[in-house]
Order: sequence, then C-alpha cells, then structure tokens
Amino acid sequence: MSKQINAIRGMNDLYGDQSQAFDYLVQTSESVLKQYGFQSIRLPIVEKTELFARSIGEVTDIVEKEMYTFEDRNGDSLTLRPEGTAGCVRAVIQNGLAHNQIQKLYYTGPMFRHERPQKGRYRQFNQFGVEVFGIESVDIDAELIALSARLWEKLGLQNLELQINSLGSQAARQSYREILVAYLEDNKSQLDEDSLRRLESNPLRILDTKNPDMKALVEAAPKLIDHLDEESKQHYEDLKAHLDDLGVAYVENPNLVRGLDYYNRTVFEWITTELGAQGTVCAGGRYDGLVEQIGGKSTPAVGFAMGIERLMALLMDNQLIHEDGGPDVYMVLAGDSTKRPGLIISEQIRENLPDINVQMNCGGGSFKSQFKKADKSGARIALVLGEDEVSQQQIAVKYLREDREQEMVSWDQLFSLLKTVLTQSK
Ligand code: ATP
Ligand code: MG
Repeated sequence: MSKQINAIRGMNDLYGDQSQAFDYLVQTSESVLKQYGFQSIRLPIVEKTELFARSIGEVTDIVEKEMYTFEDRNGDSLTLRPEGTAGCVRAVIQNGLAHNQIQKLYYTGPMFRHERPQKGRYRQFNQFGVEVFGIESVDIDAELIALSARLWEKLGLQNLELQINSLGSQAARQSYREILVAYLEDNKSQLDEDSLRRLESNPLRILDTKNPDMKALVEAAPKLIDHLDEESKQHYEDLKAHLDDLGVAYVENPNLVRGLDYYNRTVFEWITTELGAQGTVCAGGRYDGLVEQIGGKSTPAVGFAMGIERLMALLMDNQLIHEDGGPDVYMVLAGDSTKRPGLIISEQIRENLPDINVQMNCGGGSFKSQFKKADKSGARIALVLGEDEVSQQQIAVKYLREDREQEMVSWDQLFSLLKTVLTQSK
C-alpha cells in the first residue's frame, strides 16, 4: 500500500454535520444581509503581501508572524489572505466603487493564519465579512450591530454578549499612546516578553493581552475612552443611544482595542462563554482611514467579520442546525429488470416535482438492505418497484414515518399522489 497523505495541520475537512452547519450558517447570514440591502462580492484568496502589511499594520500579530507568504514565480511577494477587509478595500478602490457612492457588501470564504491550532483556532478558517463604504454617521454602525443581533436571533443563538468601545481619532489615539506608554514604563517589571516588545511598536495592543498575570495591570491602565476627541465622543454617545433605541444590550469594554491597526472610533465584539478561550465569534468596527491609506480617495467605512467555525461549533453544541436536503422519497428496486424503469421514474419525479428529493437505490442490494437504507435516509416514502409492478405499470407507495396503509398506484397517478402527500407539508 502507498503511504497515506494527510491534510496540513490546522486545515480541516468539513463534512457531514459540519458541512450542514456551514451551509445553514452562510445561507441564513445571506438572507439577513439581503433584508438590509447588502450585495455579495467575490474576492481573490491571494493578494500582494504589501496590501496586508500596509492595512493590518506591520507590527501586529498577523503581519509579524501569522501570514502565509510566498514568492511567486516572477519574484513578487504574495500572501494567502489572513482576513477579508484589506482585499475588499483594494477591490472597491480598483473598481471605482467607493467614490461618491455607498457600497454595502458581504463575502465569505477561507482565511489563512499560521497560529497554533486548537479548538476554535485553525490555520485555514472561514469568515463571513460585511463592509459598508461611504457612510460616516453612526446610524450605520448601529444598523450593522442590529443586523448581527438579528442574525443571532434567527439562528437561535443565545448568551452572546456585545462589547463595544471607541478608539477615537488617529490624533486622540496618538496622544493617549504617550499616556499609556508612561504608565506601562512605570510598571515595566510586570510586563511579559510580548508586551515589552510591543511597548515601543504597538503599545495599545498590550491592552488586548490574554495573559492572566497582566490582567490587573491592564485593568488599572489609563483608558483611551477618557481621552477621546469631542467628535468621537459624540459619535460614541450616539451609538449607545441608537443601540438603546433598538433594544440591543451592550457592555462597554474600555480595553477592547482589536488586533488590527486600521480601526478608529467604533469597535465591537460578540463574545460567548460557551467556547472557552476562543469566545469571540464576531468582531468589527470603523476604519475611516483605510481606503485612503491603500491609495483610494478618503472614504469612511465600517464592517465586521464572523468566525464561521466558532459559530458552527455553537450551533452544533446547542443542536440548532436545521437540516435540509435529505431525500423525501427513496426508490427501492426488486429485480434487475426494474433498474431501467426505476431510473426513468426517478428522473421523471425530479423533472415534474422539483421540490421533491428522490434518492434512487443505485448499486443494487437485497430487498432488506434497501429498506434499511430507505429508513436511514429519513425519507417519508419508499417507492417499491418489483417485476410484477413493472409489467402492470404500477408502483407501490410505502409510508415509512406514519401509520398509513401501503398503496399501489399506476405510474400516471404517481406524481399527483406524491404532490398531495409531500408538497403540502413542505
Ligand atoms: P482572536 O482574538 O480570537 O485571535 P482576532 O482578533 O484575531 O481573534 P479577527 O481578525 O477580528 O480575529 O477575525 C474575526 C473573527 O474571525 C474572530 O472573531 C474569530 O471568530 C474568527 N477567527 C480569527 N482567527 C481565527 C482562527 N485562527 N481560527 C478560527 N477562527 C478565527
Ligand atoms: Mg487572532
């Protein structure tokens, strides 16, 4: 036997329940996004490395140590996208979609980060991203948050906590940075290795530390929210007022800074306690400076990304997946001469009754084993075709899930019977 080849660590196959949960999540998200007037955009998985370095920030975990970067055959440095916003901004600029117009876009697909694989943290994972370009006022921030809340409700997810914060303007953040660095310098002995490194390069990130030993230090640190510029302060107050109007509950977390450099003003995360340490299922905020930073005309923007695997885990743990796509009808064939009419009748059902799913018993098998498969398939009806039935142009209809007598119908009557029995209850 040849040596087996396995997938790369942290890059998973999704099948069975997982695949069902994935599809259900994406379809439900799309249906909610449509309610709010969003359109889909499809983006490349590979971009120039420079795009991510410039947007996410040189001194972030992602750019410093998590990107899958490689040299193309012509020597260009390319990177498998670690997130979707940068590519979406690039696309919007390149295609002239941002200038003097509003864009409300969503996308979904795989992202790649070289992290240590663990529950809820993978090297290839999927995000569902939502971005709005061209709106500066806070009503859209509130609407985006309300949209995500509506999605949780539609999915039946409870116990998600919304945390919000404001990062203010670039200038406010700059002056706060000095205040923070002074405080951290005074407490340098308590900083861990990562934080010492960040002290000069990206001190705000220290607030986002996951090290429990630094918790007290971080909680006592001066707060950015106390040093906001007037406009950002108003923007934040208005956001809270809108959320109150909409009945969306939130917790203010002054240490919420997000791991990417492009955010300003509103930032938010939806967090669950059900998944252990990897509890953030959705995160986003405003990034008014990014379009200009990547070479477009100054355009306000706001968005968020959901972690599909983490939401899938929540759905599966809470048994919230609504299965669909199983067969309604299972075709059981007794005898070789029934195969040809069986195939034809199955096709005719699909042709005439496209809402009904038919599983044909291809591959043969005993009567008993075929019935076992029919039962396991979840189908409501088994159609049984034996040689006698074929010679009389009839078919037996057997009800697998209800107390109802088996009946024999002619091929002509079959469609109307299936329609009456199956489509009305669908
Ligand atoms: P975390 O703090 O959990 O590392 P992050 O701040 O790096 O998250 P974002 O870049 O904001 O995450 O990505 C948005 C969402 O994508 C996260 O909230 C999470 O649900 C999901 N996500 C991020 N990284 C991973 C990963 N390696 N595996 C699975 N899901 C992920
Ligand atoms: Mg991360």
